[in-house]
Amino acid sequence: MADTRDEAIAIAGELAELRRAIHREPELGLDLPRTQEKVLAALDGLPLEVSLGRSLSSVTAVLRGAGPGGTVLLRGDMDALPVAERSSLPYASRVDGVMHACGHDLHTAMLAGAARVLSARRDLLAGNVIFMFQPGEEGAGGAATMIAEGVLDAAGARPVAAFGLHVVSALLPPGMFSTRAGTMMAAADTLEVTVRGRGGHGSQPHQAADPIQAACEIVTALQAMVTRRFDVFDPVVITVGSFHAGTASNVIPDEARLSATVRSFSPAARGRVHEESLRVVHGVAGAHGLSASAEFVDPFPMTVNDAAEVGFAERAMTDLFGNGRFLTTPFPVAGSEDFSLVLDLVPGAFIFLGAAPPQANPATAPFNHSAEAVFDDAVLADGTTLLAELALRRLSYSGG
Ligand SMILES: [Zn+2]
Ligand SMILES: [Zn+2]
Repeated sequence: MADTRDEAIAIAGELAELRRAIHREPELGLDLPRTQEKVLAALDGLPLEVSLGRSLSSVTAVLRGAGPGGTVLLRGDMDALPVAERSSLPYASRVDGVMHACGHDLHTAMLAGAARVLSARRDLLAGNVIFMFQPGEEGAGGAATMIAEGVLDAAGARPVAAFGLHVVSALLPPGMFSTRAGTMMAAADTLEVTVRGRGGHGSQPHQAADPIQAACEIVTALQAMVTRRFDVFDPVVITVGSFHAGTASNVIPDEARLSATVRSFSPAARGRVHEESLRVVHGVAGAHGLSASAEFVDPFPMTVNDAAEVGFAERAMTDLFGNGRFLTTPFPVAGSEDFSLVLDLVPGAFIFLGAAPPQANPATAPFNHSAEAVFDDAVLADGTTLLAELALRRLSYSGG
């Protein structure tokens, strides 16, 4: 039998076709019927136990190896973003205002490729593999819903390890894998604030209680809090990305609303930034005689890689692809991921893969989520190889 990499290379053309078909027809959130259809077609005929999500269009496939052993979970997310693609690619999005700008189309194709390569190696497989095709990564809670619907128990026993890949359209050279032990990506929480005052005539602010002024002060006070209250070596990031108040220049409104994304990299900083943000919001509003309500919603925990699984993955990458294909991620990334919810329950590793096109400069190419981000198909074979080999090798380990 050809080795996994040769086989992944042999099917790379088909995987590129699948990826491009998904790219042309991107879908948002938890309901991805056309993407689900394409995944099911790609898995058709393979010796898999396939089940579909009940409240989302997920696909869970289980491959049972010939020998007994543990279970490894491999995950690929499938959703797109509300971004209007600005590219002249022949397979550019045909859906207005929706684009696979985070490369999840490649993740889906690589996971389907791994299912195919591993299905052909069922005899070598000591244990089971769960393929987790996940909708709704971009803020829709897809991983949480799949976990609630039982993906981690799909093969019976809980997985001994879980792995996921994420392509990046910049930063890393093409084909370069990168990960790190410990915190890999930030926790992300959304702070929602409503400042309540008393509306009135714009010419007589002393008769009203102006929520806009207080809300503006809250925005700047939050930034002062970041620099004055947090250690630069255990940082937090706060960005107020939404601010709404008022209807006319001469009318003081009753209330102002703002929301912020709040990123942190340790449980201690996360706990403290929650507590202190609420204190700042209430304190500033109170200082001006107004009241505020504030709460944290949509929690994403930190993505934390297991040191032993990172070591295992690093050895596998070097063995498969030779030296020079792996970089230790120097610092955690301030982005967030809902694969973190899987890694909270199962030790594993989340690995970045450089997918900038060969003619692009990875230092300056448009990054993920940009309307101009381009992800190169050429990484599909090696991404597929790595996913398949991580499962094969991890399950041949006696320790489990
Ligand atoms: Zn994204
Ligand atoms: Zn993503």
